[in-house]
Amino acid sequence: MAKIFVSHSQHDRHIVDFLARVGAGTQVQIVFEELEGIVSGKMTAEKIRADIESSNAVFVVVTPQLASLAHSRDWVSWETGVAAHRDVWVLEQRGDAGKVEVVTPALKHLVRYDASDAWVPYFRSIIMSYDDSHVLPAMVAGGTVGGAIRKGEGAVIGAGIALLVATLLNQRPQGVATCCAHCSSRYSVHLPIDEPSFRCPTCNKVVTLQLAPPVLGILPSAAG
Ligand SMILES: [Zn+2]
Repeated sequence: MAKIFVSHSQHDRHIVDFLARVGAGTQVQIVFEELEGIVSGKMTAEKIRADIESSNAVFVVVTPQLASLAHSRDWVSWETGVAAHRDVWVLEQRGDAGKVEVVTPALKHLVRYDASDAWVPYFRSIIMSYDDSHVLPAMVAGGTVGGAIRKGEGAVIGAGIALLVATLLNQRPQGVATCCAHCSSRYSVHLPIDEPSFRCPTCNKVVTLQLAPPVLGILPSAAG
């Protein structure tokens, strides 16, 4: 079963409840890990590393509360480093603009969201895009066919077919690919329609997308 690791502070119940609701009923396991558990000794670096390495993606919730806790900030940076070869999604609530300074350089996506119903379909698409429940049977089938082909070529072919199936069935929101004008970091941003500016998670500077409105219009309007 596909797994998404969510790193968050115990103060961020709103996004935990939101993601739990969005992920309910999917074939993707959402694993929530409180940063405070590390400090209190309930979690260890070894356990977290194992959880991250067995996950398909990592969501990092950055908030002003997290920004004020030096130890948690350091752990977030460490976690994103461990997850560097996976899809790291940095989630920053749009109302927190200008209040967050947590640096997470190893990101692939930045989402400036609000935990409203308008964003449910978008987050559901992200979560569902990691669902590999339909991929495993295809890989098994490919492997079986490939069994007649020597030297393991069949397994490779089977995996290729499986990946193609995954691509066709699950469309992951790609956001807008960007390169920070200040630090040259490359990642994708997912922004509300009316908010073309964002904080670069790598250098902490404000970046404004120079795009036509229809491009940003792929995202839900931030209600409220
Ligand atoms: Zn930057």
